[in-house]
Amino acid sequence: MGLAKTTVPYEEITRALMSWYASNRRDLPWRRQRDPYAIWVAEVMLQQTRVETVIPYYERFLARFPTLQDLAAAPLEEVLKAWEGLGYYARARHLHRAAGILMKEYGGSFPQTLREWRQLPGVGSYIAAAVLSIAFGQDLPALDGNAERVLTRLFAMEEDPRRPAGRRRLQALAERLLPPGWAGDFNQALMDLGATLCTPKVPRCSECPIQTFCAAFRHGNPEAFPVRTPRRSLPHYDVTAGVIQDGDRVLIAQRPLEGMLGGLWEFPGGKVEPGESFEECLKRELREELGIEVEVLEPMMTIRHTYTHMRITLYVFRCRWIGGTLQPIGCADARWVRVEELDHYPFPNTDRQIVERLKAEGSKT
Ligand code: SF4
Repeated sequence: MGLAKTTVPYEEITRALMSWYASNRRDLPWRRQRDPYAIWVAEVMLQQTRVETVIPYYERFLARFPTLQDLAAAPLEEVLKAWEGLGYYARARHLHRAAGILMKEYGGSFPQTLREWRQLPGVGSYIAAAVLSIAFGQDLPALDGNAERVLTRLFAMEEDPRRPAGRRRLQALAERLLPPGWAGDFNQALMDLGATLCTPKVPRCSECPIQTFCAAFRHGNPEAFPVRTPRRSLPHYDVTAGVIQDGDRVLIAQRPLEGMLGGLWEFPGGKVEPGESFEECLKRELREELGIEVEVLEPMMTIRHTYTHMRITLYVFRCRWIGGTLQPIGCADARWVRVEELDHYPFPNTDRQIVERLKAEGSKT
């Protein structure tokens, strides 16, 4: 059971947390100013990605697109290129589209309400609350995974915070703890405590500023929180890709601009249908996607990858073009590109491995 509501010393907890934060806050590049654009970019990158990974991407992105105007004016392909390797590319497409909307409909300024922020592509309640609290000082809790872990342990919360009832309870507790006028620091204090001391495994409770109030610590089971109700296991798909070379050039296709990995480039191919061999799949996909006939040659490499909603095994084959006229039927574009120019194009992580293999082969010959 969690602490009974009437006995919780909310103000004391907040005071202990805030005074710990004053001397232990992490010095992160996006915390060195209050520019809503920079904070927004950082929060989008931090969704699904670790701080250490984000820092160099954030710095390069801000150097390349220092203002909202620069981002809105840039071609999508350049934005995707700057995002390459960070994954979850819909984030970059949404960010770019939202920048265009802010320029067009808000004259380059930023909305001041949750409702308006939430209407922008790719902005959920967390990002909206994070920007409004950190950049504009609005009294809104913003709970990322770290903050969520701290609070579920502090109150030994038995509800799964990913479910609506758990989400509501967590939000209510955060609102109760939030010190008016200090929401930005409060939110970041919870995030920092979760990232540095209240870690998923082996939390450092002996150094924790709110240990005396922590129900999970008292029960001796911090690692049991947050409670997770089991998710269905991810489906798995076999996928093929063809590497078709003509001298030092190779054929690449651009994925449709909307949908998963939209706008990124790849080696053409697709999902294996039930009862289909890899060879049949590749021939069919290249006919449907590009209007060409190929002979499938030897296997080149096999790549396994896990996305949030599925796992894939990508079987890569060398192929020879034997007929048909190249036309982008099921893709946004298709091009013959010299191997040394492949780095100018944004690829998903799986296809980036094929690029690296081709470059390595090129440097040997
Ligand atoms: S006492 Fe331990 S479990 Fe509780 S909030 Fe602090 S670090 Fe987390």
